[in-house]
Amino acid sequence: MTEQRRMELEIIESEARYKDLFENADEPMYTIDTSGCFQAINKAGLRILGAEKEEVTGSHISRWLTPESFKLSQEVLEKQISGEHCEQPIVIEVINKNGEHILGEIATRVIREGDRIIGIHGIARDITENLRLEQELLESEAKYRDLFENADDPMFTLDTEGNFLELNNAGLKLLGCTRNELIGSHFSKWTTPESNVNALDAIKKRLMGETIEPPTILEMVSSNGEHRWIEVRSSILKEGNAIKGLHGIARDITEKMRLENKLKEYNEMLLESEARYKDLFDNAADPMYTLDEAWYFREINNAGIKVLGATREEIIGSHISRWLTPESLNKANERLNRIARGLPVPETIVYELICKNDERRWAEIRNRPIKEGNRITGFQGNARDVTEKRKLELQLKEYHEKLQRSCEELIEADRLKTEFVSNITHELLTPMTSIKGFTELLYDETTGKINKEQKNGLGIILRNSDRLIRLIKDLLDVASLEKNKFSMKFECVQMSEIISKTIQDMQPHAMCKEIRIINKVAPLPAILGDDGRLTQVITNLLFNAIKFTPEKGTITVIASENTNNINISVIDTGIGIPADELPRIFDRFYQIDGSNSRKYGGTGLGLSICKSIIEQHYGSIKAQSDCNGSTFHIMLPKPANNTKRS
Ligand code: ADP
Repeated sequence: MTEQRRMELEIIESEARYKDLFENADEPMYTIDTSGCFQAINKAGLRILGAEKEEVTGSHISRWLTPESFKLSQEVLEKQISGEHCEQPIVIEVINKNGEHILGEIATRVIREGDRIIGIHGIARDITENLRLEQELLESEAKYRDLFENADDPMFTLDTEGNFLELNNAGLKLLGCTRNELIGSHFSKWTTPESNVNALDAIKKRLMGETIEPPTILEMVSSNGEHRWIEVRSSILKEGNAIKGLHGIARDITEKMRLENKLKEYNEMLLESEARYKDLFDNAADPMYTLDEAWYFREINNAGIKVLGATREEIIGSHISRWLTPESLNKANERLNRIARGLPVPETIVYELICKNDERRWAEIRNRPIKEGNRITGFQGNARDVTEKRKLELQLKEYHEKLQRSCEELIEADRLKTEFVSNITHELLTPMTSIKGFTELLYDETTGKINKEQKNGLGIILRNSDRLIRLIKDLLDVASLEKNKFSMKFECVQMSEIISKTIQDMQPHAMCKEIRIINKVAPLPAILGDDGRLTQVITNLLFNAIKFTPEKGTITVIASENTNNINISVIDTGIGIPADELPRIFDRFYQIDGSNSRKYGGTGLGLSICKSIIEQHYGSIKAQSDCNGSTFHIMLPKPANNTKRS
């Protein structure tokens, strides 16, 4: 074989090899002549165009391209023919036989024969799918970026060192900074030192592949110093197999934290106040307790335990019937029934308790139902141990009954005494009257002449008889005095005459002590009165004045009238009456000084009789006294004002 032949054979072989390569290449390949008509196209190219070789070979490229792509390929063709540089590859849009649009990336080069350009050789690649994927990727990235940027919750990425790579708008808002201020800054710049420790710990764990549950809570510090709490969940950010950093989603839980803190605070306050009330309850001076709805003890304080004399354990859970007498239990039931029927009940109630040692004690209870809505779930009560008070009350009742009995006995004794005095005085009066009558006969010498000595003696007998009769009459008046009622016989009386006559009658007594009685009675109008009783009043007052005035003293009787009344005053220069005794001298049997009364005599009845008589005349009597003596004032109404008399 000649060299030439060998070379020819080699060329044929190589051509066949290249032809095979061309035909069976994966990529579409083609040649077009300088006018733009297909000269050859391989199988991959025909697959793209969806046509037979015959249909494509000789057809113009415009048949298979969109107008824009045709224009572009024409430009490239022209540039390549004229030898100008043009960017390769270009993207063209092919319309295949089925009318489908396919995007292809083509790279072309000119085919020369010597210096002459005879066509274009092109290799294409179907990039429809690539472009679609690229587009989808772009769209999805845009979507996720949008989601990231506009998420309500802060989202971020950190590098493995903890520097910010990204932070969304919510995050920037939380930290109050711009993206520029944040990107590249370290996480620790935005947290409290304590939270930074927690954050770094969480980052470390996360990068080592550990799960972090529950989410990390961090206290962030924004650019204006405001503190906010976030709850962070993170995941590892990878690029291929390499860990790039962390991706995190945070949730602003500041309000929740504040609420939680407030709640915690309230809880603490509640616990504190509960403890305080528990302390108050436990150590209150009075017994306090709570019962359940069936009256079993739930709680009882120390004072309550002390009263019942049992241990707390013995009381808690026990029924109140264990500690109440049956009567008190009935009372409690009745009270509850009334409450249940909405009837009023007294604020407090006294129960008799049975203590552990069977001792009986009394407690005044004040209780109220504990309600949940309308349902009674228990009772709260406080008690006061009134045992001592109760004992005193019982004692007092006993004393009272005793006193009442004594009083009744006394009244009876008094009645008997009055009866006795009345009987005895009647018995005394009759002989005294006859003694006085016969002595007067002797004294007046009706029965015969008597000597001076005898007359003096009889005078003494007469004066003492007078005194005795007056005393007996006073005693007879005691019964009337007790009823404050004297038998009266009202008629027109001249007070001035009664006074003058009485002064005259009292002269012998006054003279014995050389006492002067001055009569300063003005003419007075007649009044309605009982002559005898009014005489008794003036006699008593003059008698007292003489009795309590030392020898050679003076007694002045003044009487005058004004528009409505007659006023009578008996003034003495005697021993006087202490101011604090004045209110009592009109009391029955009252004498200022017992020993004095023995010295002066008397019964303590005179003034009380006077008062009673004057009051039955619708008048009044009062005493006044100073170091110069005593004055007794009587006021008697004039007829116009006492016509109401019976
Ligand atoms: P008695 O029978 O004791 O005089 P009275 O009721 O007349 O009883 O008087 C009561 C008391 O009032 C007397 O005991 C005396 O202490 C006091 N008394 C009455 N009148 C006078 C008076 N003129 N001066 C001083 N004390 C008087």
